[in-house]
Amino acid sequence: MPDYITTYQSIQNECKTLTNGNPPTLIAVSKTKPYEVVREAYLQGIREFGENYIPEAIEKFTKLREEFPDADTSVNVHHIGPVQSGTLRKLFGVFSYTHGVGSFSSLHELLKRAEKEKKKIRYFLQTNLTGENTKHGFSLQTLLENKTNLASQQNEFCVWEGFMGMGPSSGDLMETTEVFTKLKNFREEHFPGLKLSMGMSGDYTLAVGLGSNYVRIGSKIFGEREYGAHSV
Ligand SMILES: *Cc1c(COP(=O)(O)O)cnc(C)c1O
Repeated sequence: MPDYITTYQSIQNECKTLTNGNPPTLIAVSKTKPYEVVREAYLQGIREFGENYIPEAIEKFTKLREEFPDADTSVNVHHIGPVQSGTLRKLFGVFSYTHGVGSFSSLHELLKRAEKEKKKIRYFLQTNLTGENTKHGFSLQTLLENKTNLASQQNEFCVWEGFMGMGPSSGDLMETTEVFTKLKNFREEHFPGLKLSMGMSGDYTLAVGLGSNYVRIGSKIFGEREYGAHSV
């Protein structure tokens, strides 16, 4: 069995332990990895994948669904990069979730497109928790100011799943704990029905300990990505 399968399984077990048996959905972020890796992961039982570059995901997962018709209904592909209004129509039919809706204009376009395509997608609003201007997403203040309006931003095909948040680029674990706790408290106070997508390779144990519902893990499972690839 390849190492990435045993690593995925050991992270899964770790998540069970950290949550007393109520683990989050563990997304295997397979961006930049070749089709053969996704195929093997599928054969070994992995059903949740994360991708950030739409054409690459279409290529790999169309192939997977052709080779294994069951994958059509059993596999969820999660889009994890910033959502761009100009290309988001390509998400439909390939991705079940998008974690990177970071502006009202892309949110409105996503809702409109979902109705037009008549294809389902669940979305996370991306939050900017650290104030870094390199980071895409809504401030909690903006979300709060739009609280009543946000609740209606859904339709038959497009469902609001929750909030996505990331720690600081520095990777500082104290600050990461602080911002993850802030998002968790914000959700509990203002939007209790919604889910959280927090935690990557370097900080997932913190996120899982705080009750995140989805974790997105790439390099810890599959190894470091190569420079120059669509890896951001
Ligand atoms: C690439 C990426 C991940 C996975 O990152 P790792 O540090 O390799 O686990 C998670 N979330 C987003 C938004 C990403 O772009």
